[in-house]
This record gives sequence, structure tokens and C-alpha cells, in this order.
Amino acid sequence: MPPRVAIYDVGPRDGLQNEPEVLRPEVRADLVDRLARAGLPALEVASFVDARRVPQMGGAEEVVEALERVDGVVYAGLALNERGYERLVAAGLDEVRFAFGATESFNRRNQNASVDESLASAARIAERARGDGIRATLNISVAFGCPFEGPVEESRVLELAEKLAAMEADEILLADTIGVAVPTQVRRLVARVSELGVPVGGHFHNTRNTGYANALAALEAGATVLDASVGGLGGCPFAPRATGNIATEDLVYVLEGEGHDTGVDLAALIEVSKWLEGVLGRSLEGQVYRAGPFPAL
Ligand code: MG
Repeated sequence: MPPRVAIYDVGPRDGLQNEPEVLRPEVRADLVDRLARAGLPALEVASFVDARRVPQMGGAEEVVEALERVDGVVYAGLALNERGYERLVAAGLDEVRFAFGATESFNRRNQNASVDESLASAARIAERARGDGIRATLNISVAFGCPFEGPVEESRVLELAEKLAAMEADEILLADTIGVAVPTQVRRLVARVSELGVPVGGHFHNTRNTGYANALAALEAGATVLDASVGGLGGCPFAPRATGNIATEDLVYVLEGEGHDTGVDLAALIEVSKWLEGVLGRSLEGQVYRAGPFPAL
């Protein structure tokens, strides 16, 4: 049986959050619906943060309300604190993704909290999620490199992952937020975190053209979840001229070719990217939607 990998399309949240355009909630819900119909098993649909800070994510509840849900698809959202978590649960999502940084400098700037404070929030959210019957993924941002502190020690991330595993998270996600990792590093860290007995996910950016190689390395090392963004939506907030998330259709192309079962209909996904290109009025970072599948579908 070919190995199964769950791709989370984070385009509607992580992608659009880092693009200049502010799309209306109905359009963002439409994007989510199109991705679900293309066979994506899981989607990051909204962020429950302060819309004054992140205008692209305003109207999170309206996005969720407008969804035409597909049975079996996991609809996830981002929360950075308990207030966000409460909004997410009230909106009716299936999964909370809580994110914090591996370094003090990054976490202070992004979460306005120390790493210890974020770990305490993670523990409370994981516990509440169990009580509320929803999944909890705990994300370690800048797990391979930090824009303020440079390279991040593997032992540091492992120590954080051990604490998250003790919280009985449904999944631990390692994020290369600024796109600096290389495959050997990814293979080593994912393998060590996988030993903790919690499913491991990888979130890779193609900022320095290593994103797809890193995604494959993560799978080889035992990851069962990969994040990607339709069309490669989303820039890199710390490298303004660079690309960000790996593109979902490009990832699906290489994974299916490598014998993994993603469950995604590549031809349908390519149509979503073409539609999105029209919505944004410019071409996207992804390459497979422009080149087409091979052999032609
Ligand atoms: Mg990202």
C-alpha cells in the first residue's frame, strides 16, 4: 500500500495572511470550498486573531459560516491564545492549530509572550480541545532558524517538542517559517520528534528553493502531515522579496510521482489555482499550475 500523507492546504489562512490583498470572507470561503472539492483532506481556513493587527484575516466567523462543508474534510483554524481558541470553538471548526516560536525573540515579537507563557497556553488549549472534542495541533515556528537569533539548536526544539508531546497534542508541527532549512537537518529533527509517539507534521517555505526537498525529507523521516499553500500563496514576512509557502499542486505532483497517496485531484487543484490567479489578477508562485500535469490529464 502506498504511504498516505495528509496535506493541509494553508492557503486560505497562512497564505492570504501574507499577501497584500484583503479578500472578502465570502471569497475566502469560496476558496476553501474549491480546495475541499479538489480532494484536500484538511484545510486551514481562518485565523482568530485581532483583525486590526491582521486585516487579511478579518471576518473569520463569516468565513466559517459561509463554508459548504465536505464530509470527512478537517476544517482547522489558527489561534494564538485562549480568547482566539474560544472564538474558534464557537465558530464550529474541527481543529485548533496553536503556534508559538522556538526562540524568545521571535515569540516576543509575534505572540507578545515568553516561550514559557506560550507553553502554558498550549497546555491549556490542548486540554480544552480534548474536552471540546476537537483536534489540537501544536506548531513550533522558526524550528530551524530564526530571523532574530539565527540557527536554532536541534536540542532546543526537541526539548519543546517533548513538552508538547506530554500535553497529548494530536500532532506536533515543525515550521521552517523563514525558509532556511536543508534536508539533512529536517530528516534529523523530524526523526527525533517522531520518536515521541505523536504524529509529526512539517511546514516548509520555498524561500531559498529548499522547500520541496525538505518536505520529502520530512516524509522519509516519519512525518505524516505536510502543509502547503494553493498556488504557493503567502510571502515570507522576513524576506519581503522572496516566496513563502510551498505550492500545494507542486507538492502533490512530486508526492504522487513518488508513490504517495495524497487523495488530491491534481487537475481539479490546478483549476483552483487558475481561478485564484483571476481573483488576484496576477500570476502565482506555483509552477505546476502553469506547466500542467504530466502526462497531461
Ligand atoms: Mg507559512
